[in-house]
This record gives sequence, C-alpha cells and structure tokens, in this order.
Amino acid sequence: MTVNLLDYDLGGLAVFCEHLGEKHFRAVQLFRWIHQKGARQFDEMTDLAKALREKLKTSACITPLRVVSQHVSVDGTIKWLFDVGDGNAVETVFIPEDDRGTLCISTQAGCAMGCRFCATGHQGFSRNLTTGEMIGQLWFAEHFLRPYLKRDDRVISNVVMMGMGEPLQNYSALVPALRMMLDDHGYGLSRRRVTVSTSGLVKKIDLLAQECPVALAVSLHAPNNALRDYLVPLNIKHPLEQLLPACVNYLRYAPRDFITFEYCMLDGVNDSIEHARELVGLIHEYGSGKIWCKFNLIGFNPFPESGLRRSKPAQMFEFAKLLMDAGITTTVRKTRGDDIDAACGQLAGDVKDRTRVVERMARQRMVTFRPKCQFDSKTEKV
Ligand code: SAH
Ligand code: SF4
Repeated sequence: MTVNLLDYDLGGLAVFCEHLGEKHFRAVQLFRWIHQKGARQFDEMTDLAKALREKLKTSACITPLRVVSQHVSVDGTIKWLFDVGDGNAVETVFIPEDDRGTLCISTQAGCAMGCRFCATGHQGFSRNLTTGEMIGQLWFAEHFLRPYLKRDDRVISNVVMMGMGEPLQNYSALVPALRMMLDDHGYGLSRRRVTVSTSGLVKKIDLLAQECPVALAVSLHAPNNALRDYLVPLNIKHPLEQLLPACVNYLRYAPRDFITFEYCMLDGVNDSIEHARELVGLIHEYGSGKIWCKFNLIGFNPFPESGLRRSKPAQMFEFAKLLMDAGITTTVRKTRGDDIDAACGQLAGDVKDRTRVVERMARQRMVTFRPKCQFDSKTEKV
C-alpha cells in the first residue's frame, strides 16, 4: 500500500524514511521538495539518489485533493471546491490584500456544531478531514497561485482555519497540519499568522495552548449564556464561565498576543446597544481591565434557510463605537468574494444532496475566470 506523503509532518516523514532505511536529512529534503517546491513526482527530486526515488515510487505518493471548481471574484478572491470523496466536497478561499495573502481552510466536511447562522452548520457533519487534506488545500493554493500570479516568492502569508468545520473537533489531524505550516522547511509561517477559529471547545483550547499556541479566534456572537445557548448550541456544554477563562489562560502560552472574538451581527438578535454594554462588562470582568482581546464584527452573510437578517450598517457602527469607547479594539470585517458565495458562513460545499453531488456540481458550476482580477484593491484590514 502506498502512503500519501501530504499526511506527514516532518517528524512523521522522518519515521517513514527510517523505515526505508534512510537518514533523517532525507526527510528534510523530501519535505522541502513537497511543500516548498510543490513537487508531485519523485523524479523531480533530482538531489535524491535514483535508487531512493524508485523506492519512493513503490511505497508513497503525493496526492492532492481533486479540484471540482474554481471561482474568481471581481475583487480577486478565489474559491475552490475540492472533492473529498463519497459525495463530499469542501471549500477553500484565497483573499488577496495589499500586504498579505490569506488562505481560509476547511477542517471538516460539514460541521456538527449546528450554529444557527452558519450554512455549514445547517448542512450537518460528514467527516473529519485528514492532515493531508488540510495541508493539501495550502499546498494546492500556494503552488497554483505562484505561476497564476506570476510570482516567484511566497504568495500565502496568512492561514485562517475559518472555512467549513470546527477545527478543534478534529484536533489530532489539525496539529500536525499546523506544524507543517509553521515549519521552516515547510511553509515557514509565523505563529501569529496562523489562526485557529473555534466555537469554543474549552478542553481543546487548553491543549492547543500547550502544544501549538498559534493565534486564536473565538466565535463569541453573544454577551450572555441564554443568547449564546441559542446561537451556538455548544455553549450549553461549555458556557461562558468556562470559555472566557480558557481564553485568558491561552494567553499565558501565547504572550504578547490577544484573542480575537468574532461576533456575527444579526439584526434584532444580538446587535443592540444593551448587548454591546453587556459585552463590555463581560470582557472587563474576565480580563480585569487589561487589553487582552479584540473584536471582529462580521455582518451576517445570509443563506436561504437561516431566517436571519444582517444588522443595519448604522447599528453595526453604533455597536462598534460603544466597544471602542470602552477601550476594546474593534474592526468590522469587510466582506470579500460576495459574488462567488465565498464569505464567512456561506461555505456549504453543496453536500446536502449526496447523490453524485460532485459530478452534478462540476456540470452546474462552470469555472469562471474573469479577464482581469484586481489584486490591488483597497480593503479594510482585519
Ligand atoms: N467552526 C469555526 C470556524 C469556521 S466558521 C468557528 O465557528 O469559529 C468561521 C467564522 O465564520 C466563525 O466566526 C463563524 O461564526 C462565522 N460565520 C459562520 N456563519 C456565518 C454567517 N452566515 N455570516 C457571517 N459569519 C458567519
Ligand atoms: Fe460549525 Fe463554525 Fe459553522 Fe458553528 S460557525 S456550525 S462551529 S463551522
């Protein structure tokens, strides 16, 4: 049986090389060929002995995910749909900005958390992605984008686990993928430029703090348990009095960092001035006055079954102003890729109807390349 080398972080590759009777430095060479140069064939790896290349051909492969479709937005955002088998598909989004290129990665096909305002949540859970399927999204995007954008240097500077799925529910596959992103022989991303976003799996937040303290975003969406229980059902199991101390504790392992709280603005549900005041009280209660978090307000991106509406811009402004006046750094996330349904919470992968969905979608969604993409458009920083 051949193994897919995309599944291995450097440690895993070293063990694999040992089984082949090879020294540790061969693993480094292989890892660099795969992740830095985007090699798919062992014959490309010219500094490996021919005998080793032959051995690799019979025992291993480098198999990325199959692209079902690619959509390019007028603002330069690109969304890919990848086939992950059994009628499941996941989405990955590239968001170009002046000074960075961000890739938004999926960690599960579907999601079991069932948040009210999320299209992925409404579709239900199919399965966890493997490490190779997670890193495969970065591998594909980086090595597709370099020639596409005519760049020799690295294109993706930031990775956010904000696509489909709850990353911390897929913890054991997630951590090796994070290590590959941070590894200097891999993608060499700094710890602060890799963000795990979670709806609040408290025990896994504690574990991540110790094992791989990358940047942490927490999907808060409500200032009290009653409302959060309704919007994010996981809150019933892990209420705010568990979640917020876990966030504060995380910063002991990620000093000089802050927690980003995401807050999806829902008209008439969680966006009143009273909610904002309550939020300020909550943040000051747990952070005892010091700056330990920032808020990212996201305008709700609607989808048909939600029955919810996006807050009015004036309401979002008032809400943001109240937080900022209380000394809490607050940004309003600019929606990107609107025209291609690539915005937060709209990633559904269309897996609902499992009958040959991938084939059906490939027919329906023709690949749309716009003649000119604007990669230098001004956007608000998140
Ligand atoms: N499961 C993780 C990461 C994926 S969701 C989490 O919940 O954090 C990424 C972000 O998109 C989360 O902050 C989530 O709350 C937000 N989101 C989900 N649905 C949304 C929608 N319809 N409109 C705006 N933001 C949404
Ligand atoms: Fe899952 Fe995140 Fe969507 Fe909630 S918001 S259902 S945790 S993907």
